[in-house]
Amino acid sequence: MKVLIDRSEVDRRIGEMAREIATDYAGSAPLLIGILNGAAQFMMALLDRLPNEMLEQLDYDFVDVSSYRGSESTGRVELTKDLVVAVEGREVLVVDGIVDTGRSLAFVMELVRGRRPRSLKTCTLLDKSARRSVPLVVDYRGFEIEDVFVVGYGMDYDQRYRALRHIAAIE
Ligand code: 5GP
Ligand code: MG
Repeated sequence: MKVLIDRSEVDRRIGEMAREIATDYAGSAPLLIGILNGAAQFMMALLDRLPNEMLEQLDYDFVDVSSYRGSESTGRVELTKDLVVAVEGREVLVVDGIVDTGRSLAFVMELVRGRRPRSLKTCTLLDKSARRSVPLVVDYRGFEIEDVFVVGYGMDYDQRYRALRHIAAIE
């Protein structure tokens, strides 16, 4: 494994993203939806950097989808854990750790859109946009990365290395 983005760089960028999100959602009551397990660590780090006034208004929930085995996409996405919190009329921000082909996030966007949120945006720590196979707008992007398989900050290799505080590339 080789360090791709070190801990301080990840922390710095998450701080910037939190400031941007805090500005854009000021005065509203956002609902953050994280896609398990990859988004969990990033979403908690993001929440940790948001101002208290915003946390008083904000809710969060998680969904889980499955589509990925080892380092190769199967192309099929299914919902394995649904939301508990109601989406209708909410300002929803869907959060993932990494967007690759875009199928997982696009699937969750469709699911959420069908429940009539007031607004719907996307946020990801990492984006391999060159790999996109479905149209998708990423509203908040931490880092654009090349087509390498990465681990850390929620991203696993067969369930290992998720908890790292930096992003590493598997070679
Ligand atoms: P997509 O549906 O966009 O092709 O893939 C998104 C999901 O694939 C991510 O949420 C993540 O679970 C997995 N994924 C894509 N690229 C990587 C990668 O480089 N490393 C890891 N650990 N997971 C990845
Ligand atoms: Mg995932």
